[in-house]
Amino acid sequence: ILARGRDVCKQNGLLVLSVLSVIVGCLLGFFLRTRRLSPQEISYFQFPGELLMRMLKMLILPLVVSSLMSGLASLDPKTSSRLGILTVAYYLWTTFVAVIVGIIMVTTIHPGSAAQKETTEPSGKAIMSSADALLDLIRNMFPANLVEATFKQYRTKTTPVVKSPKVAAGEAPPRRVLIYEVQEENSSRVQNFALDLTPPPEVIYKSEPGTSEGMNVLGIVIFSATMGIMLGRMGDSGAPLVSFCQCLNESVMKMVAVAVWYFPFGIVFLIAGKIVEMDDPSAVRKKLGFYAITVVSGLVVHGLLILPLLYFSITKKNPIVFIRGILQALLIALATSSSSATLPITFKCLLENNHIDRRIARFVLPVGATINMDGTALYEAVAAIFIAQVNNHELDFGQIITISITATAASIGAAGIPQAGLVTMVIVLTSVGLPTDDITLIIAIDWALDRFRTMINVLGDALAAGIMAHICRKDFVRNSGIEKPLTLET
Ligand code: ASP
Repeated sequence: ILARGRDVCKQNGLLVLSVLSVIVGCLLGFFLRTRRLSPQEISYFQFPGELLMRMLKMLILPLVVSSLMSGLASLDPKTSSRLGILTVAYYLWTTFVAVIVGIIMVTTIHPGSAAQKETTEPSGKAIMSSADALLDLIRNMFPANLVEATFKQYRTKTTPVVKSPKVAAGEAPPRRVLIYEVQEENSSRVQNFALDLTPPPEVIYKSEPGTSEGMNVLGIVIFSATMGIMLGRMGDSGAPLVSFCQCLNESVMKMVAVAVWYFPFGIVFLIAGKIVEMDDPSAVRKKLGFYAITVVSGLVVHGLLILPLLYFSITKKNPIVFIRGILQALLIALATSSSSATLPITFKCLLENNHIDRRIARFVLPVGATINMDGTALYEAVAAIFIAQVNNHELDFGQIITISITATAASIGAAGIPQAGLVTMVIVLTSVGLPTDDITLIIAIDWALDRFRTMINVLGDALAAGIMAHICRKDFVRNSGIEKPLTLET
């Protein structure tokens, strides 16, 4: 047994280290919570984890640009359009299925009953409409400035506008005052009291385009994919740039191969650092326990049952072997909560362990990390219906359909960064008139659920690459068989 264990460790050294680092990170985090570290000590402690995030983010831009450009340029127009249509259709379909799974889970478990609101006050107004969010999505697809897109993306800015009741110029606002009399006990003295009922000024929110931090990966994906297709059509005259992109891609992958040895160390501090600073779990457990169970069980059903079954039914290959191949990427997703940051590792796993054609991976993965978020979509549907349940708000069938469509759209609009889904949930809530400030109800536990949904997002992208590689295998053989390296001469 020992010899076999040694063999397994030798073959899967990095994977074993990554699994161990998740366990050590959890144990260390819970141990350090008892030590009551100061905020400054916590920030020093989190430093190695921060370095891991920075390394991964550093690789995203060159990786996305070079993979899409070189990947699409090396396909003929017919193959690239077939691959593009199939991939996007598959992504939309599986995201929609994830939403349905979420809706079934949340209506069956009904976690909202355990967390009914204590106050019945109407909650705040919608601060951003679905239309604004949709416009942001489209704006982000066409970045006006590519350099700016590498560090900024559009988010609609909402500014409060205070509206006073209408009064004619020069007139004081009408006052509505209730006068009432109070007679003191055992006395004939009557006092007058006035209660001012003048309506308070109404606060509405005005939305206008603004900007916020965060790389606009969607814009970069659209630009690079279009450029790749055009380079492919240019033939020989496009070869120097294609060759450059292939070189860039290879060198980034070599950087990834070196950086991965730092990752287990970084994972320990990333996970422990988060556990040290999280809120008291017992406070959260009472109200949000069932909600968390609903989200996690939905993710498990979708990620470990539906997607693998789909993979098996299309490819007739063993999904467990496939998932084992990308285990390291799933652990990085768990540690970083970012499918974009995990992208370099997903690439590495798919190419080295699962032997997916690199031209497929170069297209399917960056697009998937940007628009395909099954975990996020499932979570958005569950969270919106949970908020409705908490507010005792009965949703009719039409509203459930609206939630399923908007949750799909919201997940497409979410960036592959930590807790992006929480922001785009505004779209889902406003679409059925639910109070957007009730998002605060689920914030306490969102950082943890984000890790699990990111794992499912990454799993969905990787399985999609496996399925596309199977469906398009004949096209690829007919096209060029193995990747034809483009040189200046060719
Ligand atoms: N963190 C998720 C991701 O990167 C997005 C989200 O659901 O917040 O895929």
